[in-house]
Amino acid sequence: MAVPRHRHTKSSVHQRRMHIFIKPAALTTCQKCKAPVRPHTICKHCGYYKGQEAINVLGKLTKKERKMKEKEMKQAEKEHKHEAPATMEEMSKK
Ligand SMILES: [Zn+2]
Repeated sequence: MAVPRHRHTKSSVHQRRMHIFIKPAALTTCQKCKAPVRPHTICKHCGYYKGQEAINVLGKLTKKERKMKEKEMKQAEKEHKHEAPATMEEMSKK
């Protein structure tokens, strides 16, 4: 069995381990519902990817859960529309 020749100081051990740590996940926001999602993945909140529905999120829910989720998504969409900057045409009308 290999035996260490010299004692490793705390400092040198810490210096070596400086790069060994879990990095926080890189997150982007969903285009539709603005929930945080990992890039290049389907949004698990609304089931959309690149503006198209990829999975039906409401499919497996019960009637009560579905109603609540639909309400929540509508509200989020309303807020999103309200926040969205006006298009050039709208700006010219004003
Ligand atoms: Zn989404």
